[in-house]
Amino acid sequence: MEFPEKPYITLNIILLNPPYYCKVVREGRCQHEAAIWDSVYPPLSLATIASYLRDEHNTKIFDAIAEETDVSALVKVIKNFGTDLIIASVSTPTITEDLQALEHIKSSSHAKIAVFGVHATYFAKALIEENYIDYVLLNDPELPSVQIASERMDNLEGVAYKEDGNIVVRPLNPKRISQFKIPAWDLVDLKKYKIPIKGKSYVLVSTARGCPYDCSFCVVPYYYGKKIRYREVYEVVEELKAVSKYVDEVFFHTDLFTFRKDYVLELCDQIRKEQINIQWICNSRVDTFDKEMAESMKAAGCWMISFGAESGNQDILDLCGKKITLEQSRRAIQICREVGLISIGHFVLGFPGETHETLKQTIQFSREIDPDFAEFYIATPFPGSRLFETVRQDISLAWENIRYDHDPYNYGFDLEKSRTRAYFRFYLRPKKILRFIRLFGFKKIFAMSSSAIRFLTSFMRNPD
Ligand code: SF4
Repeated sequence: MEFPEKPYITLNIILLNPPYYCKVVREGRCQHEAAIWDSVYPPLSLATIASYLRDEHNTKIFDAIAEETDVSALVKVIKNFGTDLIIASVSTPTITEDLQALEHIKSSSHAKIAVFGVHATYFAKALIEENYIDYVLLNDPELPSVQIASERMDNLEGVAYKEDGNIVVRPLNPKRISQFKIPAWDLVDLKKYKIPIKGKSYVLVSTARGCPYDCSFCVVPYYYGKKIRYREVYEVVEELKAVSKYVDEVFFHTDLFTFRKDYVLELCDQIRKEQINIQWICNSRVDTFDKEMAESMKAAGCWMISFGAESGNQDILDLCGKKITLEQSRRAIQICREVGLISIGHFVLGFPGETHETLKQTIQFSREIDPDFAEFYIATPFPGSRLFETVRQDISLAWENIRYDHDPYNYGFDLEKSRTRAYFRFYLRPKKILRFIRLFGFKKIFAMSSSAIRFLTSFMRNPD
């Protein structure tokens, strides 16, 4: 797999996070509203693509979500930039609005339009039929972006497009790239992105792509592949050194950050040795995490970890293919407490096989293992997940309803009410409030609670 040589012409390219009526995240497997943290992600994929394009093309990143820009303002930006090519990130819950925005842009601009993301990859053929979409980029968007910008159609990989009225789909070479340039964060106004809780500017850093697990609700194996493609530790360290010039905080946006203990220990070791002054958070799995790792991470600047505990019922855990035990979740949260790391537990309600009893068990389990924060989701059948294939006949495919707070099933119990109950039962406890005061102090609690209260009261405003 090779990047094309120097392009024939220099283009004006906008890398776009399209507008939506509220704050949303479109980044890899993450396709959701800002929710309890009221925080959007710095656009990692756009900044990574930009790092490959900027040397040869005039490249601009435009995040209409962070800019809180609507379509008509966006059209002006596109016109003023003399845009030749737009590469847009799209997602399942926002796809209807994304396409409307792109159709509108096409009607008022000569720019070619490409889309990428999990949804775009899954529905590439259907999307390329739309006359305002010129390219669909499949899976990793970096290489296809460079190829379409070079306008050389001979060696395309990972692109769907039209040729003489026919749809051509050129799959990505299975030997995908695994070394990525440092994202072009200097093209992003990082003041607009604040890490949860601390409220400081931050960036995302990826250490790997892909996941060998097969959790039914997850799109990572489909989108990034089942083989993990690691970056070398020294590369990540170089990137951390570079981003520490812009920000104090990093979110390691790696789906399985703690999968390889030797890698994590080596990275933490290097961060300490190089005295990189950065604080960070990451995702983990409860079965690929232990005390030695936690202590090393804490010493290297880690302060918060997310775990997918998913369910409080072992049979449901087994059915969804998570391959963890309740005891492992208990232990992971306990380790965080012992080491002094803030923990977030993620719980999913409404997997196939769920009953009133198992829902109650999950809410009870969240209180029992008691991570510092908990997030509750309705099992969401994103295209690309096994769950989507299982339930697609039974659900209404209104894409805006494929979201964590909407019940798309007909199981005979109200998952939205269960989710509301879960949040209230988890957070509205004297023990929890005292813990927050101890952890963050009154001033911080006050700042945090405005978004939390907004989030919790949204359930009351939308009781259906
Ligand atoms: S462990 Fe499961 S949820 Fe996590 S990235 Fe892999 S497949 Fe997705």
